[in-house]
Amino acid sequence: PNLVAIVGRPNVGKSTLFNRLTQSRKAIVSDTAGTTRDRQYGKCQWNGQEFSIVDTGGWVVKSDDIFEGAIREQVKVATEEADLVLFLVDVETGLTDWDEDVATILRRAKLPVILVANKVDNSGEAYEAAEFYKLGLGDPQCISAATGGGTGDLLDVVVATLPKEAKEIVDDDIPRFAVVGRPNAGKSSIINAFIGEDRNIVTEIAGTTRDSIYTRFNKFGFDFYLVDTAGIRKKNKVTEDLEFYSVMRSIRSIENSDVCILMVDATRGIEAQDMNIFQLIQKNNKSLIVVVNKWDLVENKDQKVIDTFKNAIYNRMAPFVDFPIIFASALTKQRIFKVLETAKEVYQNRHIHIGTTKLNEVMLPIIEQTPPPSTKGKYIKIKYCSQLPNTQIPSFVFYANLPQYIKEPYRRFLENKIRDNWSLHGCPINVFIRQK
Ligand code: GDP
Repeated sequence: PNLVAIVGRPNVGKSTLFNRLTQSRKAIVSDTAGTTRDRQYGKCQWNGQEFSIVDTGGWVVKSDDIFEGAIREQVKVATEEADLVLFLVDVETGLTDWDEDVATILRRAKLPVILVANKVDNSGEAYEAAEFYKLGLGDPQCISAATGGGTGDLLDVVVATLPKEAKEIVDDDIPRFAVVGRPNAGKSSIINAFIGEDRNIVTEIAGTTRDSIYTRFNKFGFDFYLVDTAGIRKKNKVTEDLEFYSVMRSIRSIENSDVCILMVDATRGIEAQDMNIFQLIQKNNKSLIVVVNKWDLVENKDQKVIDTFKNAIYNRMAPFVDFPIIFASALTKQRIFKVLETAKEVYQNRHIHIGTTKLNEVMLPIIEQTPPPSTKGKYIKIKYCSQLPNTQIPSFVFYANLPQYIKEPYRRFLENKIRDNWSLHGCPINVFIRQK
């Protein structure tokens, strides 16, 4: 999908607009969230078109002395990665110097920019918004993010302005892996290790959207695409330090992949940047393997150290803990092929199909033994279950007499029992409870 970035000064209403544009969708994905921090990435649907939205403000430390420089850098990163920018200004404060600075960056960027004047709650304010015309980015679209006024018209303009998405030219039956992670985790190194000496095995296919590149690998019995390897660019110290940078750099690869190989630096452990990327993977329902890279630098590698490492990762990522962790070194190539092998297995798990008979044979006795707790004296019974056909990720429905009384802990219990009995390692699944 296309990617829209919202930029603007703090307090102009970026997150209010973000919430308004992603509202309906948020409700749907909320059951997969289960995470403490929501860093403002979501989907919006309008007139049958879907696109992703990022609120660049979600990643700024709210400290007065650093924000202006940091936001300017973020605006630059956003212009490199997004397909369209919504530049939000505030009629209450009026035009500021900082708005002019940002406008200068945006005018030079090679992507469409829509100037949006927020906090326009009446026609008098619409009149005041005219001063923003001076920014050289056309007439502002007037909205009130708080009440929703004007946002429908804004979305019409967004959808009309977004570039057309070409059809993907990749073979759907071949897994698409994305190598993601914070800067210096070793993404380029591991990709080079996959490629090895033999550069003939790879064919690059220019992807559909800006930058999205699929590289086809066929080696040692593995046939797969790596998504966006060309996007791993030359380094820029300033922007790389921004948390926001690794997020923006990862979105497209994650969206276009089936399985994400999340690279973590063994010498640093899991930090905020890793968690941001993990959340993007979860929000997109992608399969996951974690590679703890630079394992060659860890001196003491006994089982206790390994277990501590694993537990630390699982604790951070809970409640989703059913994914493989591989300790590897892109430098010495230790377990590089294990990574590919595991990625392939995890991909296959995404396509599991469990027959209804088998599913009920296993699950009904479990449910009988541990039934949903009765609520308000009501007797709650699950009659049967089945896997839904043709879903993006394996999805299961349990039919109950009173589904509204079955709460999250029991839903999670059912999910864990499915995971205990079938191979779904690395794969997100849906468990729904519905009326019989
Ligand atoms: P990227 O930014 O994620 O693409 O990271 P790079 O692949 O450019 O690696 C960052 C730095 O870490 C480079 O200096 C690499 O040589 C080094 N590096 C990558 N993988 C390993 C590894 O497994 N072991 C060691 N010791 N160094 C590594």
